Amino acid sequence: MKVPFLDLSAQYRNIRGQVDEALRRVISDAAFIGGAFVEKFEQEFAGLLGVKHCIGCGNGTDSLFVIMKMLGVGQGDEVITPANSWISSSETISLCGATPVFADVDPDYFSIDESRLAEKFSPRTRAVIVVHLHGQAANLEPLITLCKEHSVHLIEDCAQSHLTTYGGKPTGLHGIAGSFSFYPGKNLGAYGDAGCIVSDDDYLANKCRMYARHGALIKHQHQMEGINSRLDGLQAAILSAKLPFLKKWTEQRNHCSQLYGELLADLPEVRLPSVRPRTSHSFHLYVIRVEDRDGLRKHLTDMGVETSIHYPTPLPFLKAYEHLGHVAADFPVAWRHKSEILSLPMFPELTSEQIRYVAGCIRSFYQ
Ligand SMILES: *Cc1c(COP(=O)(O)O)cnc(C)c1O
Repeated sequence: MKVPFLDLSAQYRNIRGQVDEALRRVISDAAFIGGAFVEKFEQEFAGLLGVKHCIGCGNGTDSLFVIMKMLGVGQGDEVITPANSWISSSETISLCGATPVFADVDPDYFSIDESRLAEKFSPRTRAVIVVHLHGQAANLEPLITLCKEHSVHLIEDCAQSHLTTYGGKPTGLHGIAGSFSFYPGKNLGAYGDAGCIVSDDDYLANKCRMYARHGALIKHQHQMEGINSRLDGLQAAILSAKLPFLKKWTEQRNHCSQLYGELLADLPEVRLPSVRPRTSHSFHLYVIRVEDRDGLRKHLTDMGVETSIHYPTPLPFLKAYEHLGHVAADFPVAWRHKSEILSLPMFPELTSEQIRYVAGCIRSFYQ
């Protein structure tokens, strides 16, 4: 049997009619940039989350950058961000002219470890970026308290956490603003690059929208210099066509996770992802921690099971951050995870037969 890590064609086959019709309409209306399809998706996504503003952007990296830039993060500032994430969560800090300050992650939940965060604050700290990694909500309550105490902004990187909730409230709504990615492989994925900003703050939302559109909300009336980072019409229409399925897909991901859990629970060599109390998980990724990860990964590859690692090198140890001079002891948990984590196949269309096969292959490796 072959089990892919992700199968986007399987999803397209199930919604082909809706997607093809959406594309046809955008093309025949020539609504490529701005216009009705973009507005419609922005309203729908804001409505789904229950947030006032949704601002489409070119991708999820831009949306993080635009939020920070419009909060005034710049030269001499520091922004705290987790040691394990995709590089967007730190490179956008540098892009603003500020310095990323990495914080270690929680051993069980993978997100920023709030219990050791206090020491990361300095008089230069302007913001904390919290990443809801793998679709698991970070422990927001203590983070919000810490940010209030230090009078800094909390920004949520929700690139992996569409529909994840914390205390019943969706991620993206707990800080000053949230950033979403609609990269094709994300839980809600476009057919190219796409992202958005969500916020309840009228002033910030307005500034972000303006900045991402060359500093002009009305054509040719540039209030400032900005950048060009828009959600385009084709991507917006595809996202609108997919949006009605997002809840069901998230439930299917949870079913996959449950089945993995049942089938692997008795293996002492495998540590399963745990769901934080008072949260819902959207299982963008299903990440286990294992002994002899590289051996297991090779075994699975040989058996036709595709896996991945998110991420092979924690951010502070990338060549890009060599200048910060970090050593393993600075981030012991992220460093340990580096050799233990393995992402198993996870997508809504994954069948229970495939999951049983993957679990069987893992079992055969340790027996
Ligand atoms: C995917 C991702 C991003 C960036 O999204 P793009 O749309 O690819 O720019 C940012 N942060 C995290 C955690 C991500 O996984």
